[in-house]
Formats: sequence, structure tokens, C-alpha cells
Amino acid sequence: MDVRAQTAMVFHLDKCIGCHTCSVACKNIWTDRPGAEYMWWNNVETKPGTGYPTLWEDQVNYKGGWEVTDKRELKLKSQNKKNFWLKMFYNPNQPTLDDYYEPWTYEYKHLTDAKLGDDQPTARPISQITGEPIDIEAGPNWDDDLSGSPIYAENDPNLSQLSEDEKRMLFEIESISMMYLPRICNHCANPSCVAACPSGALYKRGEDGIVLVNQDVCRGWRNCVAACPYKKIYFNWKTGKSEKCILCYPRIETGQPPACFHSCVGRIRYMGVLLYDADRVEEAMKAPLNSLVESQRSVLLDPFDPEVIKGAKENNISPEMIDSAQNSPVWNYVMKWKLALPLHPEFRTLPMLYYVPPLLPVMGKIGDGIYEHKTEDFFASIEQARLPMKFLASLFSAGNLNEIRSVMKKLLAIRHFKRAESRKELGSDKIRKILHESRMDPEEAEAIYQLTSCPGPYERFVLPPLQREEAMEGGEECPESCKGSCGLGDVQTPKRGL
Ligand code: SF4
Ligand code: SF4
Repeated sequence: MDVRAQTAMVFHLDKCIGCHTCSVACKNIWTDRPGAEYMWWNNVETKPGTGYPTLWEDQVNYKGGWEVTDKRELKLKSQNKKNFWLKMFYNPNQPTLDDYYEPWTYEYKHLTDAKLGDDQPTARPISQITGEPIDIEAGPNWDDDLSGSPIYAENDPNLSQLSEDEKRMLFEIESISMMYLPRICNHCANPSCVAACPSGALYKRGEDGIVLVNQDVCRGWRNCVAACPYKKIYFNWKTGKSEKCILCYPRIETGQPPACFHSCVGRIRYMGVLLYDADRVEEAMKAPLNSLVESQRSVLLDPFDPEVIKGAKENNISPEMIDSAQNSPVWNYVMKWKLALPLHPEFRTLPMLYYVPPLLPVMGKIGDGIYEHKTEDFFASIEQARLPMKFLASLFSAGNLNEIRSVMKKLLAIRHFKRAESRKELGSDKIRKILHESRMDPEEAEAIYQLTSCPGPYERFVLPPLQREEAMEGGEECPESCKGSCGLGDVQTPKRGL
């Protein structure tokens, strides 16, 4: 057993209101500079939709992630030993500027400097690359809220799982339904971007698993852009280097959550430590599609297990890190409650960002022009969700319907459990049956409700303790003279972890 610590995340999609505050917070801090204009390290997509860059989920075209060969070997889809050097110079599977958009600004100066005339001066859009006037034809959220648009939503690759009838139902105007999907780099435990880099510029930080690009080593070959199936690495056209989400590590190292987490209006984001067994990763990633979610869970280690704690200590994981893992909200959502699922586990990168799928506000759909909603069988309404189970399964469980149904059952059961509580009907047979069928007891339902609905910041973000600086400083405790003047307060942990 090779125990590693990972800073992991959960996004609770029922709570996302699609406000894009997260994207703007990230852009203002990290990508508001020449060459990075089109980079959205955090973006929020409307689903069904084609996303950003357009159709990023279509791996027939982009060839990102890993595949299992006939000999049961795990291989990169984007390159092999023979062709990787050719693809350094020409890669037909790279996204082009048209798959993103040509960044633009407006000619604001014209508003004040225009010559006197009969018409009000306007600020025309100009390309941020060429400086020439352009007609805007695409943007990072071009299909925002446009579920139902024939150009975007109907081309969502996940819809290929649906029958023609189900697709028709999805886009009927009365029952149009959509969800928001905020995305950042998943800081995968089996990152294809790292494996594809010919210069060795990409690396996974040993102490917390954050995936970073060493800008001094990167030579701009862009193999990582092709290899990442989530298209979360971008090429800076000005510096000629690749860039990606750094999980705001300078903030994490000072005890603050990443900017997109901190600013999230819906408070959908959770962060905590997971321990995993690096020895098991490769084998787990070879699992067949329908058992991929379970096999990804099997890599994660119980932070309360004495054997795991012993293995963690042998790998110089600090007691504070183990403590963080034991209090991790991510462990609760992913392993204890099995509510959070990885996005597209079939890409086999072992993403460390998990999603609680949305329980849509209204279950039921139009049949012969009449609104239908089955009431006799409580859980049957899940099958009537406006977003079909097959669509959600294509996003979060590699097509395994049972995984997604079991999450939906729990979410629906919690809703009814709390409703019954406010009506003072908690002891009723119906509620007991609902909880039993969704494999929960009242304590678990209440705990899920509490962490979902009213968590404080210290429950949402159980940040890893500072490891790097302490290790670099050689294990010394905070100086007496500081007395908190550094502003870090008791966030700074005195013990060493590396
Ligand atoms: Fe690498 Fe992030 Fe893409 Fe995973 S999501 S392959 S860590 S860039
Ligand atoms: Fe969703 Fe939070 Fe981003 Fe708003 S800030 S779009 S609620 S993830």
C-alpha cells in the first residue's frame, strides 16, 4: 500500500445557480493578461450543451484520456511511443481557436475621442489578438441558459445515450430542462496531461496532489492540451507555454480556499483531503465501464483505518494531514454517503473533483399534452425526471444507471424526510419505508441535510495544513516573536509533513 494525500473537491449541483461569480473571480486573479484572455480555468456550462471548448466531451474527435488495450494495458489515447514526436509538430486532435473563441474587447476610446457627428459614438468589438474590428460569433458561455437551442443543446454528446423519444421529450418547450455544470481542472490522480508531456514540465505535487506546470521547463509542445480529456489545459499564445488551474495553491498555503470556492454564491463547493492507494490506481483504471465508479472508489482509503494511518505515517504524511482527511467533507460525500460521483469516469484519469448530481425541482413530464406525475410508487418519479437518468449516467457514472439511481433515491428521500419533519410526521410508515429503500437511517439523512444546506465555512473547507513551507523551513515551529503578526493565526501548523 502506497498511501498518498490528495486535496479533493465536491461540487453540489443542486445548489449551483449558474451565476458565473466563480469564473469571474478566477479570471480576475489568474487569467486577466495577454495570451490568457480565452483561458477560463473555471467555467460554468449549461447542460445539455456543447460546453467549452465546444464539444470537449467528444473523445472520438479529441482523443483525450486513457484507453484499455486488448492486452489490458492502460494507454494514452492521444499518442503512443511511435507517434508522439510527430504529434509535437502537428496534432490533428488539438482544439483550435474556433473551438474556443477569438477574444475581444471594445474600442472604448472611440466613445470619448470620436469626432463630432450626428450619431452617438459606439464602442465596436475589436480582436484582442489582431487589434482589428471583428464580428463576435462565439464566447465562453455562448449557450448559457440556452437549453433547447438546436445548435448547442441538441449536439450535447451525452444525448447519444437517449432514444429519439427521450430526446424529443427533453426539448419539448413545456418541459425544457437544464442544469449547470461548473468545471475546473480535476487534479486527477492518474493525469493524462502529466503522462503526455514530453518535457516533464507537468507534475503532481507530492504533498497534496495539485497538478502544476513548471513554466521554466514547458516548451509549449501542447501534448498536454490534447491529452487532457476535460480540456482544462490552455496554451498561452503570447508566452508559448501551457497554463492550467493551480487550485489557487498560494491561497491554500495561507489557509484560504481557492478564489472560486471562496466566492461561490450558491456555496456548492467543498474541499477536503482524501487518502488513496497509488499502488492500486493503474489496476482500478482498467475496470470495465459499468464498474468504473466503484473501482475508482476502491482506490480511496479509509482515514480511520489503523493500517492506512500506519501507511500514511510511513510515507511521511503528517498527523495534521491525516486529521484533515478524517474531517473531510469530500470523504463524507464520496465514500460515506456515496452521493458524489466523478465527471466522466470513463476517461480513466481518476478525477479528484466529484459532483453531487442535481435532483431537479420538478419530477414529471408532459404526456399527450398533460402533465404526468406518478404518486403511487414513490421512487418512480425519479424515472420521470426532466433530465433523463441516462443523460446523468452518461455524465457521472460511465452509463451505469444503478449508481445514478441510488444517488437520486437518497436525495429524494432526504427531501421527503425534512418535509415530514416540518409536518411532524417523522415516525410515519411512509418515511420509514422511504429511508429504508434509499439505504439511510434518520441520522445519516440529517447529517447530509446539514452539510448540504447549512454548512459553515469550516465544514465546507477543511483545508490541508501547511506542508510545503514547513518542510522547506526544516521543521521549525512558528517563532515566538511572531505572536500571530504574520496574519496566518493558528492556521499554520507547526509539525512537518514531508
Ligand atoms: Fe490534467 Fe487537470 Fe486535465 Fe486531469 S483535468 S488531465 S489533472 S489538466
Ligand atoms: Fe455555480 Fe457557485 Fe459558480 Fe455561481 S459561483 S455559477 S453558484 S459554482
